[in-house]
Amino acid sequence: MTQRLYASDAYRCQFEARVVEELTWDGHPAVVLDQSGFYPESGGQPGDRGTLGDTRVIDVVEREGDGAVIHVLSDPVPGRHVEGKVDWQRRFDHMQQHTGQHILSAALEERLQAGTVGFHLGTLSSTIDLDVTGLTMEEVTGAETLANEVVWDDREIAIELADRGTLATYDVEPPGDITGPIRLLIIPGPPGRGKSPPFDVNPCGGTHVARTGEVGTIKIVDLERRGSETRVTFVCGARALRDYREKHDTLTALTSRMTVGYWELDGAIQRLQDESRELFRTQRELRQELLDLQARQLLTTAETQGRYAVVGQVWRDRSADDLRILARKLVDYSAVVALLFSVDDRTHYCFARAEALDLNVNELLQQACRRLGGKGGGRPDVAQGSAPATPLSDVKDLLDELLTELERP
Ligand SMILES: [Zn+2]
Repeated sequence: MTQRLYASDAYRCQFEARVVEELTWDGHPAVVLDQSGFYPESGGQPGDRGTLGDTRVIDVVEREGDGAVIHVLSDPVPGRHVEGKVDWQRRFDHMQQHTGQHILSAALEERLQAGTVGFHLGTLSSTIDLDVTGLTMEEVTGAETLANEVVWDDREIAIELADRGTLATYDVEPPGDITGPIRLLIIPGPPGRGKSPPFDVNPCGGTHVARTGEVGTIKIVDLERRGSETRVTFVCGARALRDYREKHDTLTALTSRMTVGYWELDGAIQRLQDESRELFRTQRELRQELLDLQARQLLTTAETQGRYAVVGQVWRDRSADDLRILARKLVDYSAVVALLFSVDDRTHYCFARAEALDLNVNELLQQACRRLGGKGGGRPDVAQGSAPATPLSDVKDLLDELLTELERP
């Protein structure tokens, strides 16, 4: 089994080791070392990255059965002896997030009796799943404040190897799958108040900072109900600073655009939304009025074709919606047949006839669809269709043909 150097010193990022096994893992070369500073992915915490000699370590996992640490590599390692370097920035980030999780979980337990049933350390933020539901942001904010007070106390974190008897004195359930001594993480109680019980005691094999102050800041950024559980999303340390910077930059850009203070932003956006709704309503009313006027003006262009008075028109750039409203208005106002077209990225057309007339405009529409290679349909009194873009002159020819047909007795 690999001797795990991070377990006794999470700050050690350089080490020398002997290769004891070479293997292939998921199609990549991999090695097992006699000792390693690389943390393998487990308990919701991703594995470390870094190098063995000049070779990149692209994944670190624990082998089931013998617990060997498998270093998955970009290329084979030359030689039997290697110098290992762990990516310190990534390791310290994980130490901050992971220790922050212990502190936040304990604070949520103390303030809200909410137990942690899951933890995931993600690339941007981390999550804790709680065994309760119906928590409010206000309630969790109280626990967040307590967690940060523990950080500000800069309490020294202890790692203790304990037997099952010691576990009982801490009132900690022994993990079922471990037979030997159990590694305990102990965060002490408030300083300067005599002997107080520890703030948190937890069996854990992960990497942690030495003092709570190194966690920097703990900030909850989201709360989500998931069935009978609640998921708390949070960021710690450098991630909290990055989160603050990004949000501050966004807020600064918005306040400068709106020329208000950030505390006035909510009201300013509300006013914009109200204005926009009002403008939309006015625009809709004006459009109806305009279409009404256009329909009345179009009626004056109606020409007699056989038994019918027909309004036939071809436009550029009118929407299918406009055609439908115009056709509807025309046949409502007068005993006419309306054959309306618009040519744009697509060709739209809408045919309608007044209630009193005995013409099936859907049949005319099907004829237009066949000519234009389009699709559409409707009822005998109103039908609508569209086709791929067609030259204006072709559509005018088609309209002339339809008009000529209507002239036949
Ligand atoms: Zn831990």
